[in-house]
Amino acid sequence: MQLARRIRQIPPSATLALNAKANQLKAQGVDIVNFGVGEPDFETPDNIREAAIRAIREGFTRYTPVGGTPELKAAIANRFQADYGLTYKPSEILVSCGGKHSLYNLFQVLFDPGDEVIIPAPYWVSYVPMAMLAEAKPVIVPTREANGFNLTAAELKASLTPRTKALVLNSPSNPTGGVYTAAELAALGEVALAAGIYVISDDIYDKIMFDGAKFVNLAMLSPELKARTFVFNGVSKAYAMTGWRIGYLAGPEAGIKAADTLQSQSTSNPNSIAQKAAVEALSGPQDSVATMLAEFAWRRDDIYRRVLDIPGVTTIRPGGAFYIFPNFSAYYDKLTVAPGQSRSGALAAYLLEEAQVAAVPGGEFGEDNCLRFSYATSRERIATGLTRIKAALEKLG
Ligand SMILES: *Cc1c(COP(=O)(O)O)cnc(C)c1O
Repeated sequence: MQLARRIRQIPPSATLALNAKANQLKAQGVDIVNFGVGEPDFETPDNIREAAIRAIREGFTRYTPVGGTPELKAAIANRFQADYGLTYKPSEILVSCGGKHSLYNLFQVLFDPGDEVIIPAPYWVSYVPMAMLAEAKPVIVPTREANGFNLTAAELKASLTPRTKALVLNSPSNPTGGVYTAAELAALGEVALAAGIYVISDDIYDKIMFDGAKFVNLAMLSPELKARTFVFNGVSKAYAMTGWRIGYLAGPEAGIKAADTLQSQSTSNPNSIAQKAAVEALSGPQDSVATMLAEFAWRRDDIYRRVLDIPGVTTIRPGGAFYIFPNFSAYYDKLTVAPGQSRSGALAAYLLEEAQVAAVPGGEFGEDNCLRFSYATSRERIATGLTRIKAALEKLG
């Protein structure tokens, strides 16, 4: 079948593909340690699940307003206000069918063919295909490990052209776990304002930050920046609700209204029951977030120590999210790389074969020197997996 050009250029999600391979081996009885998973390994908290059950019992099962119920928009606005001092009106908020959908909508309404969007690498896997689906040109800007993989103001400046329309930022970062400081963001904000571009701030890991660090995004830095920034968030990561599919966008009213129109002609409202659950997540007790954070912090310390214990491997110390992104390039000369395979892909294949450990090749995130490990898995699995990796790499000689 001759499919549309639009879809022929888009690769399927690589992280999901690796997960499928690992699960297949697992089903055959192989004891796989899976570091590929990009979702919390906790259950959705009980109070949230109960809210959904209540919604079903009470018959909250019909269409809602396209961009989310007034109740959920109020809960979102309250969190922005209470957590970050950011004020948003209901007309500046759009709720969608998961965070991915929020970002997809925004890319569709923001870009004309040929508009450029700056995407710092390493990047989350979906930004580039989303840009391509909007016929925008993804301008991938490599960052340096020595800078914590954070984009610098000079790097941003050097990447601007008259066609630049927006910059994507993601802090804490998937895949690196890196976090931007307020000073780094202020420097980027200055360049963005001078250039008159928009900022798409992917804040999905805002609640998963370690060492007592305070979350900051560009919208919080000044009213001028807030007027140029689309803040994106959702309940998937902070409340262990990946399957519920609720994400949201806050920002300049004209953009939100356009995304609402697009949504009205595609999915309509996000699931009514999941919206009720999200209200409970955002306005109910927040202690489950702290419990999860404490466990992630313990694992971060543990996996960071174990990674640095492998000879020749370097890594930034993750400040947030639940990923670590070590640099294994010291071993690349010892690998057999198949034609068409990336070097990080060859290492991931070697580790799956030799150590029964699944990790995602950094090439998928635009940084071939590294592999991404999610530590949304048990303490025991982390210890077992890293012990096996060390042994497998020793074997390489
Ligand atoms: C998980 C994730 C999202 C969106 O997740 P949804 O489940 O679609 O809400 C967005 N950005 C990053 C960086 C993520 O890791």
